[in-house]
Amino acid sequence: ATPSTSLSKEELLELDQKYVWHHMSPHNPNPMVLVSGKNSTVTDIDGKNYLDGMSGLWCVNVGYGREEIAKAAAEQIQAIPYVPMSQGNVPSILLAEKLNEWLAGDYRIFYSNSGSDANEVAFKIARQYHHQNGEPLRYKFISRYRAYHGNSMGALSATGQANRKVKYEPLSSGFQHVAPPYCYRCPFGKTYGDCGIQCAKAIEDVINYEGAETIAGIIMEPVITGGGVIVPPAEYLTKVREICDKFGILLIVDEVICGFGRSGKQFGHQNFGIKPDIVTMAKGMTSAYSPLSATAVRSELYDVFKQPGADHHFRHVNTFGGNPASCAVALKNLEIIEKENLIERASYLGDELRKKLDGLLIYKNVGDIRSFGFIAGIELVEDKKSKKPASPEMVLKIITECKAQGLIIGRNGDTVPGYNNILTLSPPFTTTDEELDFIVSTLNKAFSNL
Ligand code: PLP
Repeated sequence: ATPSTSLSKEELLELDQKYVWHHMSPHNPNPMVLVSGKNSTVTDIDGKNYLDGMSGLWCVNVGYGREEIAKAAAEQIQAIPYVPMSQGNVPSILLAEKLNEWLAGDYRIFYSNSGSDANEVAFKIARQYHHQNGEPLRYKFISRYRAYHGNSMGALSATGQANRKVKYEPLSSGFQHVAPPYCYRCPFGKTYGDCGIQCAKAIEDVINYEGAETIAGIIMEPVITGGGVIVPPAEYLTKVREICDKFGILLIVDEVICGFGRSGKQFGHQNFGIKPDIVTMAKGMTSAYSPLSATAVRSELYDVFKQPGADHHFRHVNTFGGNPASCAVALKNLEIIEKENLIERASYLGDELRKKLDGLLIYKNVGDIRSFGFIAGIELVEDKKSKKPASPEMVLKIITECKAQGLIIGRNGDTVPGYNNILTLSPPFTTTDEELDFIVSTLNKAFSNL
């Protein structure tokens, strides 16, 4: 049940306009107010249903209305609502073990509250690790243009989207960016198959220019998601891993979106057969039923933080990290994913969605379709030949039309600053085959009405 209120919708919206600072769209006079959800469908305050093609912000992976998750949270809150992470709590211990099973490795788990937090922690741990490991000059990080890694000063510094950063400069120093592996608009003017994976080679060039002895880590998502679903060539991540090994650089993989089944495997990097040094995760960890994130650090790295006699511990505390109820929620979420074979389901849904979306290439404004697991991106252009990004008005028209038909889709990209010309899809794993057809037929209708 939602909190009971005697206020009308109009009165609530008036209060909303007066007091609430919305993310990204503060001037929207008519925000959707959602009051309930079941499986892949959400319902607004007027009773209108929408298929949530974005799982909120790429996060409600097991779908809405899972009573067993609510029950797990309630039971844990009643047992004990809070324990500082300098102590222990049972769900956080069990979850750390479970995450190791999913990561198929040997990792220490540091808990925080959000994806941004998890990345901040990764940067601090990487710097301190090198410091205490006899290489104090290593403080720089390399990330990609177009990538999003969070909103806090360090995570935003790693982010490669200028328009998100420009009014908050100066951010943290020591963050270098390289061009993304974006085959549709290859930053090196090459064509895949005949390119020598120049986008990976460019990372090595930056390392050499900067001085390898100054680089602490490279951070990347397996696939750039929010920056426009940019899927790298199959061998790209292996090459990045080789570069990291060659120069003693830590590979930090941001699994905030790609983790927890979204990619068709437990974690996105598992599709490329690499082992990261640090993995950051949030969103799908709890399917967003409660805030929680984690930074998983290879155990050998952790050893450097526990040398006896030295004051080498990680000097970082956050009040809510490892919250017992959030960890209980995460455990139940992972149990559901396993019990209902939702990773296999996400993989199947991703393949089906891709096959159906490819049909949209008949429209002149659909330049490229990209996908990774159950994530898809549709890049809109003025025309296929010039590849000029579609105007914001055209993108908005498709989104508005879909919304009118009861489908929520996303918009990302910034191919050219200000042009968010990539439509995104990341539906819940509970999506049915019929709902998949609804997504594609709604998009078809929207494109034919352009
Ligand atoms: N990393 C990636 C890849 C993300 O997409 C996001 C958020 O969208 C973050 C980090 C930051 O997560 P949060 O919003 O939970 O701080």
